[in-house]
Amino acid sequence: MAMKAVSPRQSINKVFERVGVYGLVGGNSQKRCKYASDDEGEDGNLELEQIGAERTKNVLILMSDTGGGHRASAEAIRDAFQLEYGDEYRIFVKDVWKEYTGWPLNDMEGQYKFMVKHVQLWKFAFHGTSPRWIHSVYLAAIAAFYAKEVEAGLMEYKPDIIISVHPLMQHIPLWVLKWQGLHKKVIFATVITDLNTCHRTWFHPSVNRLYCPSEGVAKRALLDGLEESQIRVFGLPIRPSFCRAVLSKDDLRVELEMDAQLPAVLLMGGGEGMGPVKKTAKALGESLYDQELKKPIGQLVVICGRNEALAETLRSLEWKIPVKIRGFEKQMEKWMGACDCIITKAGPGTIAEALIRGLPIILNDYIPGQEKGNVPYVVDSGAGVFTRSPKETAKIVAEWFSTKTDDLKRMSENALKLAQPDAVFDIVKDIHELACQRGPLSNIPYMLTSSFSSLIY
Ligand code: UDP
Repeated sequence: MAMKAVSPRQSINKVFERVGVYGLVGGNSQKRCKYASDDEGEDGNLELEQIGAERTKNVLILMSDTGGGHRASAEAIRDAFQLEYGDEYRIFVKDVWKEYTGWPLNDMEGQYKFMVKHVQLWKFAFHGTSPRWIHSVYLAAIAAFYAKEVEAGLMEYKPDIIISVHPLMQHIPLWVLKWQGLHKKVIFATVITDLNTCHRTWFHPSVNRLYCPSEGVAKRALLDGLEESQIRVFGLPIRPSFCRAVLSKDDLRVELEMDAQLPAVLLMGGGEGMGPVKKTAKALGESLYDQELKKPIGQLVVICGRNEALAETLRSLEWKIPVKIRGFEKQMEKWMGACDCIITKAGPGTIAEALIRGLPIILNDYIPGQEKGNVPYVVDSGAGVFTRSPKETAKIVAEWFSTKTDDLKRMSENALKLAQPDAVFDIVKDIHELACQRGPLSNIPYMLTSSFSSLIY
């Protein structure tokens, strides 16, 4: 069949009209935001694929390796589904943008890394795209160009349930579902992976569920037009290996070849090894060494994540205290379980994991925007402190390990109070209930002839 070519501008306009981009087309925005509730039964000329009601359900988790937190949450949800429901669900953790689309969607990792290194640029991008009409226009324009590709990406996994754990992965897939007439059949859930000051792209009014890690985020969602019935507050999903494993510190120290007696501090900077890790490690190398007694009062573990250059530099230094320098670690629960406190940038994943392990936290940096609110989240709960100064950080740790051990103990107790180890299980159970309420997910029509790609060509 010959396809009619239209200009990108025409196609974008069509997309805007079709999806009702807020503020750009006629009608009131409140009505346009609620497009999930209209158009019942517009499947038109779809060819139905009948599959047995008892078949395994496909769950597509949309994520991107922008930082380490989105993947960690995605894998947490995958593992919890497998533990709770075994073969009932088949889980795909995918960056569909990377696999199927082109620039700029297929290189979000590179762009994110560049921007967070240039903090002012990131600040501008984060706050500048906050108004709903701005990010909706941007995402609709991208959707117009990559319509076919995203469609192909979603079709590949034939999802019964889509879970987004990324702020830029609500709009386009939801438009795809709507255009394909699947928005009443496929369950779409968003799991927010920022603890407090998250970007507004997380809040899409057409999701079936929005899982918020804190009451603060839930309030923002309500203000942004989501209904209470859509929102659940369970906490940030953390890998079951953190929540369910019973780990003995002594055994872990043997396994990880650490000193059995000396208190240990874990220093890290998210999946990318960001923040003042090098300066802080050097300062700790001094502060945890007792000059008079000529012996260490603590030991240091530095996890550099994907920052190999950082790991190499630190390995080339001389140390007076026992030090372990590691690259990207797959068993973070073990390293956290073997240590007594943690120094990190205010990454939500690392914070939530540290809370579960009862580690007092020194926050030494934050990414403007989404991580800023994590600082009061920790500090106001008495689970940690914030300082950007490597020397101050090193001094605090030395005191915790010598004269102020009570402070360390109190903060550890507060951390445990704030922890939400069951969040990931609560989330998958709720999604499962949603799936059950829908009845058998047996007739999702993935053999489509009606596709939004006809808007483009
Ligand atoms: N992480 C990991 N291995 C590493 C470094 C980090 O598994 O070597 C995980 C860490 O446990 C956490 C996530 O990466 O789950 C980092 O997420 P966070 O939200 O703290 O920061 P981001 O990297 O997303 O900025």
